[in-house]
Amino acid sequence: MTKVVIDQLVKHYGAYTALHGISLTIESGEFIVMVGPSGCGKSTLLRTISGLEDASDGLVEIDGEDVTWAEPGARGIAMVFQSYALYPHMTVAQNMGYGLSLAKRPKAEIDAAVARAAGILKLEDHLGKLPANLSGGQRQRVAIGRAITRSPKVFLFDEPLSNLDAALRTQMRVEIAALHRALGATMIYVTHDQVEAMTMADRIVVMNSGRIEQVGPPLDLYTDPLNRFVAGFLGSPRMNFVAGHVVGTSGHLAEIAAPGFPPVSRPVRRAVKVGQSVTIGLRPEHLGREGPRHPDHDIALRASVRHVELLGRETILFATVAGLEAVEAEGGDATLTVQSSRVLRLRAGDPVNLWLDPADILLFDEAGDRLDLAAPSVQDK
Ligand code: ADP
Repeated sequence: MTKVVIDQLVKHYGAYTALHGISLTIESGEFIVMVGPSGCGKSTLLRTISGLEDASDGLVEIDGEDVTWAEPGARGIAMVFQSYALYPHMTVAQNMGYGLSLAKRPKAEIDAAVARAAGILKLEDHLGKLPANLSGGQRQRVAIGRAITRSPKVFLFDEPLSNLDAALRTQMRVEIAALHRALGATMIYVTHDQVEAMTMADRIVVMNSGRIEQVGPPLDLYTDPLNRFVAGFLGSPRMNFVAGHVVGTSGHLAEIAAPGFPPVSRPVRRAVKVGQSVTIGLRPEHLGREGPRHPDHDIALRASVRHVELLGRETILFATVAGLEAVEAEGGDATLTVQSSRVLRLRAGDPVNLWLDPADILLFDEAGDRLDLAAPSVQDK
């Protein structure tokens, strides 16, 4: 069992800084998923942990040992890439045993390790095949098998499912999670896909522009994001962000309003001033209600339907509230996304009431930092 410590890790590419002092402790046996948009530095971080890139500054410790300057082969890690990186002229068995052959291990040991990995990954019937004769999912399993045979202290995965189609990705998510349970090994997994992060991680590390935004268990980050970046990155459909302002204050309570948005009182973590701009965050699933759940305090936004997507198990509604302004880094319009678990037979132009429990509202200040205090508890939902 292996703990990984990263301390103040910096990576420069010439004048460009890809990692700005990353610190993180990964517990033994933990499944950590590093997630963030393209270019945020997650592959660089993984490659620096593996030794494929040199750190510019800082420390990498694996199993209590400083490996910052150790060769990749001496770190006790195995890496699985998006591209599989299999040898085309070698059979499945030879590919999986290659690391052990290189290390000149006895044939019996190699055969046993390959057989064990093939058993775990259900590749027993394919050991004599060449990679060209395998499906994408099978090839990725061989790449994982090659990692397993080396009995690494830490598994590193770099976007391993990106080349697979949607159905296969879902299946491989389940398989990799099962593999983690079976091996109990420390695993660090990089992806841009928040669904992979939410479904597989013990803890998610959300990265942005070479920095860590937040670390925590998936549902903690989903319900209690520290800032607008994390709130917007996790969740599909994405959280709605609309512009509001403070219309009153009383102790730890701030009264918030926006055009078409009735005033609501929310506990806040910091003092706010009347007139101050805030961003109101609304999860699509919190707007998709037929009526009030708490008639005494739920509020309704009077909206107009713009577009309806009937997906069978759910309806995604795009609706506008007169005067309500969207807050989006990318500059979106004021269309709210609504997710209902019911079939909503509505048409463009239909009026609709979007019922909302004020406790589900998240607030962010001008800098994008979380402002409201209470995190809605998952258990209450
Ligand atoms: P991610 O994996 O999150 O998509 P990367 O870690 O690959 O991001 O890259 C982070 C940033 O560092 C990007 O802006 C990328 O252009 C830059 N970068 C990565 N590798 C190199 C390199 N070898 N030389 C120069 N810049 C690089």
